[in-house]
Amino acid sequence: MPQFDMKIVPADAVAASSILEHTAGTPVKTGEGNETYRCGACKTKLFVNVSHHDAHGLVVKCGKCHKINADPHH
Ligand SMILES: [Zn+2]
Repeated sequence: MPQFDMKIVPADAVAASSILEHTAGTPVKTGEGNETYRCGACKTKLFVNVSHHDAHGLVVKCGKCHKINADPHH
């Protein structure tokens, strides 16, 4: 199953209201798809077994390293 590293972006490049909060140890989202997305900085798994559609356009703040991750647009 494909695994992707998300893209780190500056916090001021995205609207605060669109940022999902991740809690260390628990993926933000799990599903029935086949793609896993990891923090681009610390490799924590943020989205597990989601479909490409589910991850498209998401912005999430890593609960471990607190960096802002965006959809890598692969
Ligand atoms: Zn991280």
